[in-house]
Amino acid sequence: MFARERVIPLKIKQIEALLRNLRQNHSKEPLIQQDLKKRIAGFNGEKAVDYHLSFLTDKRYLIFNDLRLPLTPHFFQIDSLIVTPFYCLILEIKNISGTLMIDPEFNQLTKHYNGIETGFTDPISQAQRQKLFLQRFFYDNKLVKPPIVFLVVISNPNTILKMAKGQTLSPPYTKIIHAQNLISEISKLNNLYTNEIASKKDISKIKRCFLNSHEPAYTNILKQYGIEGAELFRGVQCESCLGKMERIPRIWYCERCKFTSYHAHKQAIEDYFLLLKPFITNKELRDLLGIQSSKTARIILNSLNLKTTGSTKGTVYHKDFH
Ligand SMILES: [Zn+2]
Repeated sequence: MFARERVIPLKIKQIEALLRNLRQNHSKEPLIQQDLKKRIAGFNGEKAVDYHLSFLTDKRYLIFNDLRLPLTPHFFQIDSLIVTPFYCLILEIKNISGTLMIDPEFNQLTKHYNGIETGFTDPISQAQRQKLFLQRFFYDNKLVKPPIVFLVVISNPNTILKMAKGQTLSPPYTKIIHAQNLISEISKLNNLYTNEIASKKDISKIKRCFLNSHEPAYTNILKQYGIEGAELFRGVQCESCLGKMERIPRIWYCERCKFTSYHAHKQAIEDYFLLLKPFITNKELRDLLGIQSSKTARIILNSLNLKTTGSTKGTVYHKDFH
């Protein structure tokens, strides 16, 4: 049972917004496109694992996808977490193409793809670290903690797992599995962990705490790519010709292609939240959309159902990315 479904990561939405708003033929566009492609491939890999998880319909499995939990002063992120009354299972999902070579002697993984060899962060130590963070999270929040185990799941069925020459597969590398073996690995865990540690009440408390503590990562995407606000499109973009639209009474109008729209400002505001900051004032909205009337700005802002703080002229409208 999914307690938290996987949604398109905020980072992907931010990169897409950046590409929408970057001036044409910007020198960083190919790099950003490449990053986006990688992230989408990773997301699709996670969704492929969700397909296998969808068979765990029994109520005793609570599945949390893409949880990002605070551990002062940082956060830690888990691709998938399965909570049962008997154990908790962390899944570290890897979308790797080609051949993955494991060398236990050096704690080293290398990927061979299209004749190119690349080193890889050891996903086992990554998962071990997450296990420690999760243990601390349970402890800090005074939650009853079933034993925590982990698996590294290779989402691409065509990836070949291989041991380095002269090495045999031994723990902890036996924890690297293909997604299609996930359900049988979970059956093994069910046979291994038969002590009911968390009661129904404990599980509801864990669920509530995880869902309330989850916070999506909001990064300063412009800073990450070293892009200034001046390098972005400003104003309301025409969806037909990508030109700039202007406000005529109650409607957006494109001088260039004569296209009109009632809702063209929505994308501009959404992109502002994704690229600049997750809140806006009436004055900032007028600057963004190129309109004079603060009354029009207020009508637009009120139509977006945003959370507000402050009052009258000082009202700040907040976008909630939860
Ligand atoms: Zn147009």
